Amino acid sequence: MKLPIYLDYNATTPVDPKVVETMMPFFTESFGNAASRNHSFGWQVEKVVEDARESIGKAIGAGGKEIVFTSGATESNNLAILGVANFYQKKGKHIITSPIEHKAVIDPCYALEQKGYEITFLNMDKNGCIDLNQLADSIRDDTILVSLMAGNNEIGTLNPLKEIGEITREKGVLFHTDATQAVGKIPIDVEEMKIDLLSMTAHKMYGPKGIGALYVRRKKPRVRLSPIMFGGGHERGMRSGTLNVTGIVGFAKALELSMDEMASEAERLTGLRQRLFERLTSELDYIFLNGHPTERLPNNLNLSFGYVEGESLMMGVS
Ligand SMILES: *Cc1c(COP(=O)(O)O)cnc(C)c1O
Repeated sequence: MKLPIYLDYNATTPVDPKVVETMMPFFTESFGNAASRNHSFGWQVEKVVEDARESIGKAIGAGGKEIVFTSGATESNNLAILGVANFYQKKGKHIITSPIEHKAVIDPCYALEQKGYEITFLNMDKNGCIDLNQLADSIRDDTILVSLMAGNNEIGTLNPLKEIGEITREKGVLFHTDATQAVGKIPIDVEEMKIDLLSMTAHKMYGPKGIGALYVRRKKPRVRLSPIMFGGGHERGMRSGTLNVTGIVGFAKALELSMDEMASEAERLTGLRQRLFERLTSELDYIFLNGHPTERLPNNLNLSFGYVEGESLMMGVS
């Protein structure tokens, strides 16, 4: 069978063999439970987990203690939004987000709407960009959270994180960003960008599926969250459940490799994207670029083919 070329790396990526290799010993030899505090099987993996936490934190300008491991970005987004909404409900019940967020942000917001919260969806221009003035004007006394993604998973448009962070910090509102598509691809610094909560996942950066993290700021301001699951009190009570040690080790390795290669990969992928775009537009008519022409993820090209039905096009090339 002749397989088509897989180009949807915004949906998922294969695991880098170097990542698999790093994970292997933790399935068999070093299988301890990181929460087993009273013997060496536990201590050994606890150390490995803490090193991974530091390394993942460092990649986004955070401390290891600010990293909460989850099952992926869906859970991170749910924990950030539902956790903040519940904890700060006495302060207010208003949240600001955008209509082009991932479902893992939009759906928890809809769930909150059912419980009496109010959600403002910002307007988008034709490139998928928000208007910073509208964001500033939408913040009210009862606003508790602004959730805006770093890079869009379909059209690739980047949000101006630094400018958003300036506004939210000045107004004293927490800023969450779903940075699943951006971490390891473009520089992210939670200090410089004044980000208070950040979601990420390993499987979009050549790591394994089912492991992710939520960055939760510890100071200036200290972010508080209500857990969405209850149990053994792991992850400082924010996310109970035995740690996925193999996943965590793989996640840290994948991110480390992405950070090492970020600059060269961005250049290589932008070049490949440009080449594909130029070849297609030079040989075919009615092709339209979706998303911002320059403020976009280096690996993302999103096109509309005029007068062709999407499904038929997919069938034709696969
Ligand atoms: C893939 C993706 C998610 C979901 O991540 P999972 O780890 O698969 O739950 C959330 N947000 C964005 C922007 C994504 O691209």
